[in-house]
Amino acid sequence: MKPRMRPEHWYSIRRLDDDVTYIREPHIQEFYRCNIWHVRGRDRDMLVDSGMGVVSLREWVPLVTERELIAVASHTHFDHIGCHHEFECRAVHSAEADLLADPTRENTLADPYVTDDIFDALPPEPYCSKCYAVRRAPATRILEDGDVIDLGDRQFEVIHTPGHSPGGIALYEKATEILFSGDILYDGPLIEDTYHSNAADYLASMERLLTFPVRVVHGGHFPSFSGERYRDLITGWLDAKHR
Ligand SMILES: [Zn+2]
Ligand SMILES: [Zn+2]
Repeated sequence: MKPRMRPEHWYSIRRLDDDVTYIREPHIQEFYRCNIWHVRGRDRDMLVDSGMGVVSLREWVPLVTERELIAVASHTHFDHIGCHHEFECRAVHSAEADLLADPTRENTLADPYVTDDIFDALPPEPYCSKCYAVRRAPATRILEDGDVIDLGDRQFEVIHTPGHSPGGIALYEKATEILFSGDILYDGPLIEDTYHSNAADYLASMERLLTFPVRVVHGGHFPSFSGERYRDLITGWLDAKHR
């Protein structure tokens, strides 16, 4: 039997540059562990993804309750939207709005991925992997390509990046050249074959991402990386496809 963690030890929090805070669930194995990003703005804050939802973010990470906040879903796989129901303002791309409103174990990929094996230590009682499910969290704002999430002094452009999933988005801040990339690109093994992945879309999204001047990337999984690494990862991926 794996040990169970106490809720106060479920999340770890690290403040990075650019008023970005990295929230993670260290007891989930790296490949399955989604990065949760908190971005401080003048008028409101933004949360990019919300983790598995096995421990309340609102209760145990006070940072997310301090100020008005918009909870954005990079896409709707279980590891990214578990705590969205805790937030009043929820945004998702139109192509996955139905999934955020009506998540099932199958359409969020909880089935087949979620088993006790993905944890080094289990979430607190009453968590059980067989009964795990994401709670519904209908969007209060539907996003399309080119929309802007305005935090007052910071603006994040929505870039629709289908391929991994149909409503995947990246968020780009031109002033700082920060990109939140979701699961279309991170520095680890990419997933291109879920039930709603699309190879042609994936290719087009990667080609488009390469056109943005990027300084730092905060992905859906694995550590953040530089613009140089970003261009290397995309060109390497494209070369492999065209070989
Ligand atoms: Zn993911
Ligand atoms: Zn995903």
